[in-house]
Amino acid sequence: MKHAKPGKLSPKMKKTALIALITLAVLAAAALTLHFVNDRQVEFIGLPAERVTVECGSDYAPPEVTAELRGNIFDREGTPLEVELEGEADTAKVGEYELTWSVSYFLGSQSRSCVVEVVDTTPPVITLTPEEREYVLPGTDYDDPGYSAVDTVDGDLTAAVVRVIEDKIATYTVTDSSGNVATATREIPFDDPVPPEITLKGEKSITFTVGEATFEEPGYTATDNLDGDITDKVEVKGSVDNNNPGYYTIRYTVKDSYGNETTVRRSITIRDKNGKVPGDEDSPEVDGTGKVIYLTFDDGPSAYTEKLLDVLKKYNVKATFFVVKTGRVDLIAREAAEGHTVAIHSLTHDYGKIYTSEEAYFADIDAMNEIIKEQTGSYSTLLRFPGGSSNTVSARYSKGIMTRLAKAVEERGYKYFDWNVSSGDAGGTTSTEQVYKNVVNGCAGRKYSVVLQHDIKGFSVNAVEKIIVWGLEHGYTFLPLTQDSPGAHHKLNN
Ligand SMILES: [Zn+2]
Repeated sequence: MKHAKPGKLSPKMKKTALIALITLAVLAAAALTLHFVNDRQVEFIGLPAERVTVECGSDYAPPEVTAELRGNIFDREGTPLEVELEGEADTAKVGEYELTWSVSYFLGSQSRSCVVEVVDTTPPVITLTPEEREYVLPGTDYDDPGYSAVDTVDGDLTAAVVRVIEDKIATYTVTDSSGNVATATREIPFDDPVPPEITLKGEKSITFTVGEATFEEPGYTATDNLDGDITDKVEVKGSVDNNNPGYYTIRYTVKDSYGNETTVRRSITIRDKNGKVPGDEDSPEVDGTGKVIYLTFDDGPSAYTEKLLDVLKKYNVKATFFVVKTGRVDLIAREAAEGHTVAIHSLTHDYGKIYTSEEAYFADIDAMNEIIKEQTGSYSTLLRFPGGSSNTVSARYSKGIMTRLAKAVEERGYKYFDWNVSSGDAGGTTSTEQVYKNVVNGCAGRKYSVVLQHDIKGFSVNAVEKIIVWGLEHGYTFLPLTQDSPGAHHKLNN
């Protein structure tokens, strides 16, 4: 038997040892690889937060993300990796979008994600076309001047606008697809400034001789733009004594449900057997054609007087100004220069002063006459009492003063004038149309008319052009007052 030498391995043992060595090496390599792979880390650089909110319609670009691979042995310094981005956020559309950044490398891959939430928090915008009408009749369907609604996400939402009208406020509301609500409001100028209309049957001015005819109400109708037929609401005031010659006026008044009032008048003139009407004065000016209108303006001059003078000039109509001391006494010169009559009204127009005594009255008008002299070069001999000769206010300050003054002014060479046609502009109305109607109705049928207006009232001055046009069309002559004109005196009441 052959024995192996000591220290020497048999071939069989050698083979076994080799196998063990290789196995050990393989195991070591596997362990190293495992260790190496497990210990590698990927670092993403520049990642956004996990959730990003972006307003719809705005721009959004995902950030630049880079990545590095780091390991214990080989990649201690980090090895750049190629990053791939998957996914896209559509900022034009509300929703949630996932963005994923991924890397792959030897024996591994990794990824990170983020959610981009595209939201719409912007309400639509409502645009109202401005209301340009001065008024909208109440109780009627509101004819909307127009509106539109635009949303950043939904586009034109005009058709979705809901309009609610409550009282005078129209509210427009619209909601976009994200639930954002927009509202807009406008005030509707609900108003009915249109007065009712009264139509008189028969003639507006009736003239006859006593005993030859009688006045019987020919009737009337009244309609309103909103109320319709309101004839039954007309109030008739005034009466005619068919046996007594004179001027009579019947007034027809009606109010609509909105408070607008209309008054029209019918003039009835009853002549006596000689063709005269009591109260008419004989005057060389009015005895000819019998159609004379004296336009008179009290309490000016004022800022409106210039416009008035322009209108009078346009039609070559001469009028009369009963002036007081105002801030525009300079216009008195223009009045005179343009052929109008400048006459005395009062320096102060203060009833409590001028009607305390005759001395006080004359001191007042003398001072006013000085101003007239300064402005026109001559004194006036024509005057009108503040409040008219028939005023009763003066009785508070001195009993009987109007009766005394009426006589005293004539003794001093003055002629005083009242009026027989009132425009109503001293308190009866503030409407230009009503002033026009009052004057025209008052003049119709009269032999002569002394018309009372105030050139400190713009609305009254505004009626003058229409009054002149009416007068000229109807054959009237406009004259300024003179010493020869009829005084149109009222009955003295104090
Ligand atoms: Zn006055």
